[in-house]
Amino acid sequence: MSTPTADSPSLAAGEAQARRLDESDPSHRHLFHVPPADGGSYSESAYLAGNSLGLQPRATRDELLADLDAWGRLGVEGHLEAERAWLPYHELLTAPAARLVGGRPAETVVMNSLTVNLHLLMVSFYRPAGARTRIVIEDAAFPSDSYAVRSQARFHGLDPDDTVVRLRPRPGEDALRTEDVTGYLAAEGDRVALVLLGGVNYLTGELLDIPAITAAGRAAGAVVGWDLAHAVGNVPLALHDWDVDFAAWCSYKYLNSGPGALAGVFAHERHLGDPNLPRFEGWWSTAAATRFEMTPVARPPATVEAWQISNPPIFAMGPVRTSLELFDAVGMSALRARSLRLTGWLEQLLDEVTADRPLSVVTPRDPARRGCQLSVRIGAGSAGELTKRLRHEYGVIADAREPDVVRFAPVPLYSTYHDCWRAASALAALVGQSTKGGSA
Ligand SMILES: *Cc1c(COP(=O)(O)O)cnc(C)c1O
Repeated sequence: MSTPTADSPSLAAGEAQARRLDESDPSHRHLFHVPPADGGSYSESAYLAGNSLGLQPRATRDELLADLDAWGRLGVEGHLEAERAWLPYHELLTAPAARLVGGRPAETVVMNSLTVNLHLLMVSFYRPAGARTRIVIEDAAFPSDSYAVRSQARFHGLDPDDTVVRLRPRPGEDALRTEDVTGYLAAEGDRVALVLLGGVNYLTGELLDIPAITAAGRAAGAVVGWDLAHAVGNVPLALHDWDVDFAAWCSYKYLNSGPGALAGVFAHERHLGDPNLPRFEGWWSTAAATRFEMTPVARPPATVEAWQISNPPIFAMGPVRTSLELFDAVGMSALRARSLRLTGWLEQLLDEVTADRPLSVVTPRDPARRGCQLSVRIGAGSAGELTKRLRHEYGVIADAREPDVVRFAPVPLYSTYHDCWRAASALAALVGQSTKGGSA
C-alpha cells in the first residue's frame, strides 16, 4: 500500500492524487448509503458530517425488517421465540460494544439515550458530600452535558454556578492541555466530587488523555466519568484498563446506528454489585432469572445491567447490532490506522487552503491528540452560511457550529480521499471569493 505522504498533496494536483489513494487505501463506502449531492459536479455528496450523524449501513434495513416481521408472525411469543428473542436481545449488543470501548461484557450495556444515561450514572456516581461537591467539565462541553451537570447540582440543593467548574484552554489556545487538567485536580481535587469530560471534544476535535486524567482524578479522590459521544468508533478505547469509573456514549455519530439511536454505558467492575450505590430501578434492573417472579423487591445482577430500567425498544437495537457487527468485521485498529492517513491528508490540503485565507485549523496538530475530525475557524462571515454554500454549490456536507467553526470529519469507514479533496477545494473557492468580496 502506498502511503499518503509519498504523494505530497496539492489542491491543483489533488484530484488525481485522491483517486490514486482511494485505490491503494480504500474505504468501505460500498457498505453504506451515501446521500446524493445537492449541488456541484459529482453525483454523491462528499459526506464529512459523520461526527454529527453517521451514514446508514446498507445492511440495516433488512435486519430491521426481520425484527419487524418477527413481531408480525409471533406477536407476544416473539419475546422467547423470535430468531433473535426479544427478552435477551440486548445481550447480542453487549460483547461487540464492550470490545469497542475496551470494557468487559459485565461492564457494558446498550440502553436509552446518552444524556438520559449520564443522569442515571450521576444518580450513582455524583454524590457530593461535605466540601467535596464540585463537578469538573470542560468550558467547551456539549451543552447537553452542561445542562445535565447543572441540573444535578440543583437536584442536590447546590448552586450550579459554584458547583460546576468549567476548565478553559490557556489564553490564545484552543485545546485543553493535559497538565492543566491534572494540575487543577492536584491543586483542588479535594473539593471535586466528579470529573465528567468529553473524550473527544465535539467542537475542537481534541482527544483528551483519558488514562492520565482518569488517574489524576482518582488520585484526588474524585469519581471520573467520560462522555464518549465523539470518541466511540473514532479512536481506540480501553476503559477497563484505564480504570475509568463510568462512561456513556451515543450510537448515531461514528456508530452509524441512526438518528436518536440507543446509547451505551460502561461502569467499572469495582462498582458492580455494590449495594451501597444508589440507583434508579425498574423491572429490567433485576437479574433476568428473577424478572418474572413478580416480587416486590428487585434483585439486581452484579453487572452494569443493574442500571437498566425498562424493557428496551427492540426495533432500535437492530441498527446498533448491525453497526457493531461491521466494526467487529473491520476492526478498530485498522480503522484508526486508515483514519490517521485520511485525516493527515485532509490536514495537508487544509494547510494549503488556510495559508492565505482568514481560516485556521483549531484541532490539535498532533494526531495522537485528535480523532478523525478537523475543525476550521473562519475569520469572517457565518459558519452556517458557509456550510450551506458547501452543500448547495459543491455537494460537500460538513457541519457548522456557530458562530465560526466548520467541522470536517473524514470517517475511516466510508469517507474517501476524494471527499477530502472536494471539501478542501470547495472551501478554497468559497473563502477566496468571500475574502475578496467582504474585506477588500
Ligand atoms: C452528541 C452529543 C450529545 C447528545 O446527547 P443526546 O442525549 O444523545 O441527545 C451529548 N453530549 C455530547 C458530548 C455529544 O457529543
